[in-house]
Amino acid sequence: MSNTGDKVRVIIVGASGRMGRMLVRAVTESPSTVLVAATERTGSEFMARDAGELAGVETLGVRLVDNIESCAEADVIIDFTAPAATLTHARYAANHDVAMVIGTTGFTPEQMQQLQDTLSNSSVVMAANYSVGVNLALNLIEKAAQVLGNDYDAEIYEAHHKHKVDAPSGTALAMGKSLAAGRGVNLDDVAVLSREGITGARKPGTIGFSVVRGGNIVGEHQAMFIADEERIEINHNASDRMVFARGAVRAAGWLSDQSNGWFDMQDVLGLN
Ligand code: NAD
Repeated sequence: MSNTGDKVRVIIVGASGRMGRMLVRAVTESPSTVLVAATERTGSEFMARDAGELAGVETLGVRLVDNIESCAEADVIIDFTAPAATLTHARYAANHDVAMVIGTTGFTPEQMQQLQDTLSNSSVVMAANYSVGVNLALNLIEKAAQVLGNDYDAEIYEAHHKHKVDAPSGTALAMGKSLAAGRGVNLDDVAVLSREGITGARKPGTIGFSVVRGGNIVGEHQAMFIADEERIEINHNASDRMVFARGAVRAAGWLSDQSNGWFDMQDVLGLN
């Protein structure tokens, strides 16, 4: 990636979305990034509006377009949209040697494979959660799982706003992966994603998930390690989406100094 100027040049896709607006704000607030283009899906009521005005910051002179091919030259795309849209943006990124910071969640295994194939020679940060606190929690969960082992029943709980379309959240699954990694097993082999009816007794070594949806909850996550005599909980509660936007912009700045490869927020924060 060529970061020629003083600032990292950023395209925000999905710029009128809940996260898109926060990302425009965060890019504008950061001294090391500049917004050069912003997109929305075809037919959006916000088409041609100024991205800065939509985000509640000053007018930036960057109007929303629906075709990424018409965007100004950039160093990095920050993408918090939807899986099918992210796949389209990935093709653009690969063809134009642009790095990607991907926050979209809810990919099917097939879509994930397609994304990895498309971006196999690109610079990418992909994280289910860009909050610094959550990434620290993931680290702590892996350590706790290592120490506590299968003697403690592991459960993961998450709650989000009523508009969220995928479940469990990407962050809950990331917590499950950290927990499974700490125990030296694969999450797919031990995850219990839902419980209903006569489930039978809890199977040792499984990792259970529970999900709440309602109101405007930004994001609550909890990993529980439950024994007969004690219970350890690792909690993270986000109260403002700006926490994810600032983390993603930090990732964009960090990525501009890396050679090609796939990274996560643990890499960005030096936790790996
Ligand atoms: P949202 O629906 O408010 O925003 C998504 C936006 O993308 C919408 O404005 C939509 O019109 C736009 N979009 C869809 N297709 C497009 C296309 N082809 N081109 C351009 N824009 C397009 O949703 P949201 O709450 O902002 O979340 C977006 C995604 O980010 C979800 O997958 C969510 O789970 C994820 N998310 C991740 C994190 C994280 O830290 N990784 C944090 C919050 C949300």
